[in-house]
Amino acid sequence: MANSLSRYPLLAGIAGTGVAVVMAGLSIATLYQGREEALSHARETSANLVSIIGGDIARNVEIYDLSLRAVVDGAQDASIMVLPLNLRRRILFDRATTAAYIGGSYVIDARGRVIIKENPTATPPETFAEREYFLAHRNNPSVGLFFSHPYLTHANGAAIGMSRRINAPDGSFAGIALLTVNLQYFRSLLDKIEVGPKGSIFIVQDDGALIVRKPFLGEDINRNVAGSATFARMTHTSSGSYVAKSPVDGVERIFTFAHVPGTPFIVGVAPAQEDVLETWRARSTVVGVLTLLFGLSFIALSWLLTLSLRERARAQEELVRLAGTDALTGLPNRRAFDERMDEEWRRARRSNTAVSVLFIDVDYFKAYNDNYGHALGDDALAAVAECIALSVRRPGDIPARYGGEEFVVLLPDTQIDGALHLAETIRARIRTRSIAHRGSLIGRLTVSIGCATAAPPGLGGAYGLLSDADQQLYEAKAAGRDCVRPMTLASVEIAQS
Ligand code: GH3
Ligand code: MG
Ligand code: MG
Repeated sequence: MANSLSRYPLLAGIAGTGVAVVMAGLSIATLYQGREEALSHARETSANLVSIIGGDIARNVEIYDLSLRAVVDGAQDASIMVLPLNLRRRILFDRATTAAYIGGSYVIDARGRVIIKENPTATPPETFAEREYFLAHRNNPSVGLFFSHPYLTHANGAAIGMSRRINAPDGSFAGIALLTVNLQYFRSLLDKIEVGPKGSIFIVQDDGALIVRKPFLGEDINRNVAGSATFARMTHTSSGSYVAKSPVDGVERIFTFAHVPGTPFIVGVAPAQEDVLETWRARSTVVGVLTLLFGLSFIALSWLLTLSLRERARAQEELVRLAGTDALTGLPNRRAFDERMDEEWRRARRSNTAVSVLFIDVDYFKAYNDNYGHALGDDALAAVAECIALSVRRPGDIPARYGGEEFVVLLPDTQIDGALHLAETIRARIRTRSIAHRGSLIGRLTVSIGCATAAPPGLGGAYGLLSDADQQLYEAKAAGRDCVRPMTLASVEIAQS
């Protein structure tokens, strides 16, 4: 890993970024799951509340209905109705009719007048003839248990009426038995339940008439929510859950509702999504910010690592390059040259192409040093190197400092005439540079060059070619210096064979 990292530093940055992105993804997924859990927990709690409230209503309605049936049975029994009023009252109205939230119990005759009331001191209205429940029972014998809409009573504030029809022996309408249930009962059910600062909880009738709502909406008992956009969603199924935005306050609430069996009531619990998700939101903000910070730091660190690895790789490359470079002239040194020479030699043998070498030696350089000092000697060597480098044009040609005041140029894919031409160019360029040289007969700094070619490279090896060039250099020196000596074509051919 460390090795491939230093070879491909980008890997560190990409891998680091990848890891950070995956971690961020995981943490987003976890947060999202937490949100779903909070919502489903809220739905569950709401469903439990709805079921408890609904259960209470169903049980009370059942008890009240038993009382109503007892009243109806008694009122239809001629032998009871002839008893004295006191006795009759005790038989008709059981104890349930005196329960805390019962406003009153009445037997009403076919014309709508109260004929018996449970509480002797109660002051019911003159007539019930126009009331919706009275008309409902009168017009239809099979209504059964009837629940009225909320209305205001004289004595006890808002109430709803529960009523049953009383039949004459021939089955004709003889009146109704009526029980009024204070809305206080429904309020007391919701009183102790908390649904958060922006939540709501309500009991409505299945035609939209609002019985009670928390937070309370005041004493307006004629409120109907049938027109609200979401009411329809509660009428089609017996229970369910949905999310809806209130058209009134714009708050998004999670509605969970259920119809109370045997009654027209729908109980709904609707905590605000905002309240439900408050804790989750606070926690996810912390987790989110931390994840972001850690993720960004991780990415930043991995890219810093990439940069430093890249820097190190660059430094290493530079080191390798420097190891192969001669400090004085900037040309490849002998070590680098030997490596390249080997490569080129093998390549030339594979492709069967010529390789040439120039061996360059500065004339009377010892004398130059003696005359001008070692430091100027170095400058002169650098100038010679520059002249060689400027003359070499082809990208494949390799000039190098072979050692001391000796230079070589390796010329792949070059015949002897090409090599000779380049050698002449180098020699002329150095001479034209006119570096004064008192110790030389010529009076300026010059070089002698030996050229050798292997075309194609034989089995003698690279070393043989170099020593051929060295031999030619010796010839050049012997010929008076400042000249080029190539292998003759004949000797090239001999070298081949
Ligand atoms: P010839 O024409 O026969 O080549 O004579 P020469 O004096 O050039 O030959 P020789 O081999 O006797 O001397 C080479 C000199 O080059 C000896 C050495 O002091 C000098 N020399 C070698 N390397 C360096 C270098 O790096 N810097 C300097 N200033 N001089 C060097
Ligand atoms: Mg020499
Ligand atoms: Mg020399």
